[in-house]
Amino acid sequence: MKALCWQGKNKVEVERVNDPEILNPRDGIVRITRTAICGSDLHLYDGYIPTMEAGDVLGHEFMGEIVDIGSEVKRVKKGDRVVIPFTIACGQCGYCQKNLWSACDNTNPNAWMMEKMYGYSGSGLFGYSHMMGGYAGGQAQFVRVPFIDVGALQIPDGIDDEKVLFLSDIFPTGYMAAENCNIKPGDVVAIWGCGPVGQFAIRSAFLLGAERVIAIDRLPERLKMARAGGAEIINYEEVDDLITELKWMTAGRGPDSCMDAVGLEAHGTGVAAAYDYTKQRLTLSFDRPTVLRQTIQACRKGGVVSIPGVYGGVLDKIPFGAAFGKGLTFKMGQTQMHSYTGRLLEHVQKGDIDPSFVITHRFGLDDAPEAYRMFRDKKDECIKVVLDPWQDPIAA
Ligand code: NAD
Ligand code: ZN
Repeated sequence: MKALCWQGKNKVEVERVNDPEILNPRDGIVRITRTAICGSDLHLYDGYIPTMEAGDVLGHEFMGEIVDIGSEVKRVKKGDRVVIPFTIACGQCGYCQKNLWSACDNTNPNAWMMEKMYGYSGSGLFGYSHMMGGYAGGQAQFVRVPFIDVGALQIPDGIDDEKVLFLSDIFPTGYMAAENCNIKPGDVVAIWGCGPVGQFAIRSAFLLGAERVIAIDRLPERLKMARAGGAEIINYEEVDDLITELKWMTAGRGPDSCMDAVGLEAHGTGVAAAYDYTKQRLTLSFDRPTVLRQTIQACRKGGVVSIPGVYGGVLDKIPFGAAFGKGLTFKMGQTQMHSYTGRLLEHVQKGDIDPSFVITHRFGLDDAPEAYRMFRDKKDECIKVVLDPWQDPIAA
């Protein structure tokens, strides 16, 4: 089959690799009909996530048709159309039983690598480094899905792929991040980052009853999409001081909750941002926590800081005194995907939201290397890329 392989920093290539096979009785094989590139893939592309190896198949947002199942698969069957969550969960361990699916104890065969860094390991993820399990991803024509009965979301006929594809990651991620804001009537939610995750967070915050959402970015096309979703917008490059601006907009109180939908590759200006860039470049740190600092500073007393943006290592110069002094609550982590997919499919079916609004570019898999460059560099007003793995015939 054709698959997109990581070959090193800034280098991905479409290659012919072996078709996946059933390895365990609870596996299924999915023929992928649509897949997408996520902001999280950029952290791999830019070389910030350790334990990637040349030839690793990328991709964790995908859907398709089940073409084979292992002998112990009972709930789903061949021919089902399914969306697969990006986190892999066994459904039986103590964590899965508590709906903490992304903390599953049984799906990362390389848990020891994470334990060294984090104390304990989270679940395995598709296409996301060896320390996260070393699973082949779904920017490919086929993928092996472990514990397919636990994760696969069956899609009824009559709904386009593009309306449900993002149930694999960014819609639940934006939704959980908004839910984590503990929104009450009248609340103002400030969201840093108007990438795909930020866009879904904006719409989810309104679904959950926020009165106002303030969205922050610097890219005009992303701010425009945020405004179309009902948010008030701030271009952070056009204000003197973002924290003061947010105070002005909230009668001096600050937003009730502040969301970091940017993560470890934040841009920024000023001394703190320059310090973050330098440390990252010298590989003294994985992360540039520029936005995280701002969310803590801006949040009102007793408010919530919700962090869907990914961080990897030990963060520097975090104003923890401010967090303590104001009594902030922090909520974060890999999305508890399996708790949200069914619920959010209902929102799509009812017409509350059409997730395809976020797609700006469509390519065949052969063009994925160009698509990665375009998405990373935010060229051509690119916000979200969808790939069709079957668009181009396989070369002989
Ligand atoms: P993206 O790269 O498309 O979007 C990031 C956005 O942040 C860009 O629009 C960029 O201009 C903006 N930005 C950069 N610096 C900023 C600043 N200082 N202030 C305000 N905005 C700034 O990525 P995405 O797909 O939207 O993903 C966002 C984050 O969410 C990434 O870190 C990704 O890894 C993470 N993510 C987490 C999960 C999870 O399970 N928690 C799932 C999916 C994605
Ligand atoms: Zn993702």
